[in-house]
Amino acid sequence: MSFTIPLFKIVQRPLLPIAGSWVDTAPFLIFFILFALISYLIPRLPRRMLWVRRVSQVLASFIFIIFLHRCLCVMRGWVFALKTVGRNDIIAFGYLCMFALIVAFTLTVGRVFCGWLCPLGFFNEVIGTVAARRAKLPPDVAKRSGRLMLSGICLLVVWLAFLVRPSTQFLSENAAAIWGLALLVLLFAALRREPNDLSVKRAKYVSLALWMFLSVVGVFVTSPWCTLFGDEVDYSSIVALFAVLSGGLVLSMAWCRYVCPMGAALGWLAQFAPLRITNRTACSQCGKCTSMCPMGALDDGRVDQSSCIYCGKCVGTCGFEWERVTPESDDPPSITSTPREPAV
Ligand code: SF4
Ligand code: SF4
Repeated sequence: MSFTIPLFKIVQRPLLPIAGSWVDTAPFLIFFILFALISYLIPRLPRRMLWVRRVSQVLASFIFIIFLHRCLCVMRGWVFALKTVGRNDIIAFGYLCMFALIVAFTLTVGRVFCGWLCPLGFFNEVIGTVAARRAKLPPDVAKRSGRLMLSGICLLVVWLAFLVRPSTQFLSENAAAIWGLALLVLLFAALRREPNDLSVKRAKYVSLALWMFLSVVGVFVTSPWCTLFGDEVDYSSIVALFAVLSGGLVLSMAWCRYVCPMGAALGWLAQFAPLRITNRTACSQCGKCTSMCPMGALDDGRVDQSSCIYCGKCVGTCGFEWERVTPESDDPPSITSTPREPAV
C-alpha cells in the first residue's frame, strides 16, 4: 500500500520570489532574523526568561509546518545546489540558502537551530518530559520499565511498517521507517549505558554518512522531517515520525541524541563555536546536572559540546555558565576526556 497525505500550508506560493522562480527569499530572511535575535539573546537571557525559547520553538514550528509554502530540505539541499550551480544559480541559491544559514550560525553559536528552532527537536523535547520522569525512578526499575516500553513500541512500529508497506521501490520508500526502527534498536544499547551514553551517540555519524551517501548517489529517501516540513508526506515518514516520538518517551530526545543526521552534522560543527557552556568549578558528582540536561550533554560537570543544544537550563547551576572561548583562552573542560566506565 502506498499513499501520500497532503498537508495544509497557509502560503501556497513564494512570498518574495527571485525573478519569478519558485526560489523564495522569505524563509531565508525570516530565519536570518530569528537566528540573529537568538544569538544576541542567548548569553544575556536570565533563567527566569527561558520561556522565550519556547516561544521561539512554537513560532518556528508554525513557520516550518503550516506557514511556508514548501519543504525546506536543508540536508539534501547542498547536494542539489552543487549539481545546479553554474547552470542555474538562482535554483542553486534556493537549495543552499537555508543550509548555509544554519551552518553559519552553528559555527558561531552552536546548535541553536536544534535547541531553539527545529520543530522535531521541540516535539521531542516536550515528549521527553515523560522520559525524564522515568529516569527519576530507582535505576533498576527505570531500566526495566524502559526496556518494557521499548519492546512494546518496537512491536507496534514493525506492525505499522508491515501494514502499510509500499511495494515498488523498497529502499527509497522504506528508508525513513527503517531509520526509525534503527533508532529504537539503538535505544536498547543506550538504556544499558544510561547515563553515560557517549559511545551510542557516535551512531549519529554513521547515520549522517549513510544519509550523505544516499543523497550524493541520488537515492531519494524520506525522513521523519518530511512529515513535519513537507507539503505532502508518505507512509514511511509517518511511521518514522511515530518511532521517533515514541522513542523520545523512553529516553529524552532520543532521535536528536543518537540518529538525526542533521544533528550529527551540526554537532560536529558546533565544536568550533566560540560561544559555549563551560564549568570551571570542581564537580561534587551529585549527578544533578546529568538529570537536568535534555540531551544528556552533561556528565560530572563536563559538557559534551557536540550534544549541547544551548537550551540554557543548566546555566547558573553548579558553576555552568556561558563563555566566549577565544583561541587564547584555556581549553574548556570537555567530555572528550576519558569517560567513566559504563554502568552494566
Ligand atoms: S538533532 Fe535533528 S531533529 Fe533534533 S533538533 Fe537537531 S536537527 Fe532537529
Ligand atoms: S548542556 Fe546545558 S545548555 Fe546544553 S543542552 Fe544541556 S542543559 Fe541545555
